[in-house]
Amino acid sequence: MTQSPYLWSPPPVRSLAIRGADARAPVNRLFFVGRNYHAHAAEMGRPVDRSVDRPFYFTKSPQSLVESGARVPYPPETANYHHEMELVVVIGARGFRVAAAEASRLIYGYACGLDMTRRDLQFALRDKGRPWDLAKDVEGSAIVSEIIPVQAVALERGAIELSVNGEIRQRSDLDKLIWNVRELIADLSLFYHLQPGDLVFTGTPEGVGPVKPGDVLEGRIEGVGTISLSIAPADAAPEAQ
Ligand code: MN
Repeated sequence: MTQSPYLWSPPPVRSLAIRGADARAPVNRLFFVGRNYHAHAAEMGRPVDRSVDRPFYFTKSPQSLVESGARVPYPPETANYHHEMELVVVIGARGFRVAAAEASRLIYGYACGLDMTRRDLQFALRDKGRPWDLAKDVEGSAIVSEIIPVQAVALERGAIELSVNGEIRQRSDLDKLIWNVRELIADLSLFYHLQPGDLVFTGTPEGVGPVKPGDVLEGRIEGVGTISLSIAPADAAPEAQ
């Protein structure tokens, strides 16, 4: 019997299914773009002016990733847990300081994503100038669908929508992204050496709002696919990833 060098079991490799492939995509880092649709920036009370602003980012730990179809308990320490439906870019090649015109080279494909957020904590932390981690890096809060592989294709348009219990809550189009996919990859690559398996959540359109236990969320992005999530009671045990 081989003895493990580790005192306890290392975390499992997080991975996502790829449409039409047997192999799965191992996931590296989870990057999130902040306000990237004007109507959502306005509903957050922080409008964006592209001529003077730059995109900004936050991260979640890879351990917060769950696959579409999961049932995730309502998280602790919030009374206002929000849905944010987003296009996710899957990075498939290394890149650092990549020009926007060359950024498509880094794209492996796309997925649908949900960036679930403790909105009450986010606003409280924001207003005190504190980090967002407790609002954003929530266990089970980064939900991602299967990946559609479309190497080197910069998606520029397509309907994006989310319904809760069959009622549409968010509806927009990818052509309303303030910074498009190529611009985001280029800008993020100024800060990070991007690597295969990095996921970039590109921001949510307007219509974010609270969920409650028992809710069923279903999202769709034209040309990408669908995503679903069920909210379980607060004291439910999280599903094993
Ligand atoms: Mn978001």
